[in-house]
Amino acid sequence: MKCPKCQTDMEKIEYEEVTVDRCLGCKGLWFDMLEHEKLKGIPGSEIIDSGDPETGRKYNEIDEVNCPVCRARMIRMVDKDQPHIWYESCGVCYGVFFDAGEFTDYKEKTILDYFKGFVAKERR
Ligand SMILES: [Zn+2]
Ligand SMILES: [Zn+2]
Repeated sequence: MKCPKCQTDMEKIEYEEVTVDRCLGCKGLWFDMLEHEKLKGIPGSEIIDSGDPETGRKYNEIDEVNCPVCRARMIRMVDKDQPHIWYESCGVCYGVFFDAGEFTDYKEKTILDYFKGFVAKERR
């Protein structure tokens, strides 16, 4: 599979039995339907997001991309909880693409919420 942003080959990486594709060039991440949601809930999964956020920001500017799986034009999405995170989603196969650094960012809120919940429980 080729990266939808820089057309470099993508490698398969696995974390806790979830397989995602990572670009060998820009290190963007491709998730099949709901895989990003699944991985978001697994502690330590941000390790797959090994790219440089600076590079990610550059590729984030590219907003006309086609789905690497079914070639459909992807839709630019904004994360509802963290509006600074823009990612691309395919309306046909529901795959999503995160630029380098975005998945870590996307996960961060969950980690914070987890600690907030933990503190709340301790006080009871
Ligand atoms: Zn790439
Ligand atoms: Zn697709």
